[in-house]
Amino acid sequence: MGIKAGIVLEASPGERRVAMVPSALSVLNKTGAEVWLEAGAGARAGFPDSEYTAKGVRLAGREEVFAAADVVLQVRSPGANPETGAGDLALMRRGQAVIGFGEPLTALDAARSLAERGVSFLSMELMPRITRAQSMDALSSMATIAGYKAVLIAADSLPRMFPMLMTAAGTVAPARVLVIGAGVAGLQAIATARRLGAVVSGYDIRAAVKEQVESLGARFVVLDVEAPGAAGSAEDKGGYAKAMGEDFYRRQREAMGGVLAEQNVVIATAAVPGRKAPVLITREMVERMAPGSVVVDIAAERGGNCALTRPGETVEHQGVSILGPLNLPSTVPYHASQMYAKNIATFLKYLIGKEGLLVLDREDEIVRETLVTHAGEVVQAKVRELMGLAAPQTT
Ligand code: NAD
Repeated sequence: MGIKAGIVLEASPGERRVAMVPSALSVLNKTGAEVWLEAGAGARAGFPDSEYTAKGVRLAGREEVFAAADVVLQVRSPGANPETGAGDLALMRRGQAVIGFGEPLTALDAARSLAERGVSFLSMELMPRITRAQSMDALSSMATIAGYKAVLIAADSLPRMFPMLMTAAGTVAPARVLVIGAGVAGLQAIATARRLGAVVSGYDIRAAVKEQVESLGARFVVLDVEAPGAAGSAEDKGGYAKAMGEDFYRRQREAMGGVLAEQNVVIATAAVPGRKAPVLITREMVERMAPGSVVVDIAAERGGNCALTRPGETVEHQGVSILGPLNLPSTVPYHASQMYAKNIATFLKYLIGKEGLLVLDREDEIVRETLVTHAGEVVQAKVRELMGLAAPQTT
């Protein structure tokens, strides 16, 4: 007899993804896990109940799934669901494991509540970026979708076409697109804009991405403001950008103004984990852009890379549209769920020991990094540090 894994309908307003899809169930096959699903949980992502039951999934009501599950699999766990997460928390029980996104570096109150509830919460955001965890890296999966969709939104809002066309009615010049932040989302944005025929440039604070940008057929923008110190000093050991000082950001903005003025589209993706996104595009820089230009700021969830961004809204400023879309992965719910489900199923399988039971071995890097709460306490080192608590004992 294996564990019972429960999947519930995502209760966060507007969320269309589901944490498990029928095709990813095969990952759990050999573990003996029994899967319980709240009826209708996959419908908004395009996965009807019948596809799950055909694979042996048991349908139940929401409360029943929470009560039965040894492990609850979610997209948005309480920290990432400020609107209705408290309702889910009330249904969770002592000793239960919950895996999902939970914004553990910012939603500290939610982490405290999960600890008080006695839940073992494992955060998908904290998956270490090491080779053996790549197939469990949901941040990368979701960033891929966000980068792709950001370009489609930009193309839809732009009063121009993306490709160069030579027609009997004359030549249409290609759109010029700049992608700021060439991480996972940015590289996908570059690839998508190239496929649509735009002339694309990419910029990142981490010089290491130059080759990746160029391999996608884009130009790498070099600003004369490289990070102080040795090469690569803008990158931390996890491959993420480090937070830089305000002086650096000011010099960066000054140098970027001229580059921006030449663009029809700017896709902004620059993020620093656990912090507010750096403001890289000022009002003055927007005012230098031609009317009709479009800025899609997918850092909007973290406050935005553009000073004029309003999360979830479109702002018009002197003819330039600044879009701050939220939760782009949920707008592509079928593939977002498919990728997320593969990530979370692989993670769950990793956590299931030979006996078919969940084993949370904190000597293991993947468990240690992702396990936020356990046995009534916040145990994750970074989260404890942010709360002003002493380092955990078991590291
Ligand atoms: P992210 O979403 O945190 O940031 C997006 C991008 O913005 C990053 O490339 C970052 O360098 C950039 N950025 C931050 N501040 C900036 C600034 N002031 N100016 C310009 N750009 C700025 O990062 P991400 O996309 O999730 O990942 C970053 C990198 O992590 C990846 O490109 C990759 O190298 C690495 N990674 C490794 C693995 C793995 O080894 N398993 C998996 C995924 C990603």
